Amino acid sequence: MPNTDRCLFCRIVTGEIVAKKVHEDDEVVAFNDINPQAPTHVLVIPRKHIPTLDDLTTADTSIAGTLMVRSAQIARNLHLSSDGYRVVINTGEAAGQTVFHIHAHILGGRNFGWPPG
Ligand code: 5GP
Ligand code: ZN
Repeated sequence: MPNTDRCLFCRIVTGEIVAKKVHEDDEVVAFNDINPQAPTHVLVIPRKHIPTLDDLTTADTSIAGTLMVRSAQIARNLHLSSDGYRVVINTGEAAGQTVFHIHAHILGGRNFGWPPG
């Protein structure tokens, strides 16, 4: 169930808040980040409200798999595969998570350093 009272990304799923969507299907929605950190910066989220990666359980195995597979498919559709791209899931405040609805960042179109900041 979407948590539309409190969750920004649930409100993007329902269309209550507008985002530039690049993909949607029965399980996930993907849209451009409002504050892009790379020439391509897309967020991929499950329709189901799950706050963080740390909240995943075995019951979420299918959703977690779909999140990864769709991220790869979207990256391919955005022509990021040949040069490479980064997929990031910030988990918790110390890791920089600011929106507590699990999301994969797809970042591409530039080179990335390691270790990350
Ligand atoms: P986090 O910091 O939780 O890993 O990532 C949250 C991301 O959501 C940030 O990169 C931020 O720019 C993005 N974001 C926050 N609010 C909005 C919004 O209203 N619309 C869109 N498209 N992105 C948002
Ligand atoms: Zn949510």
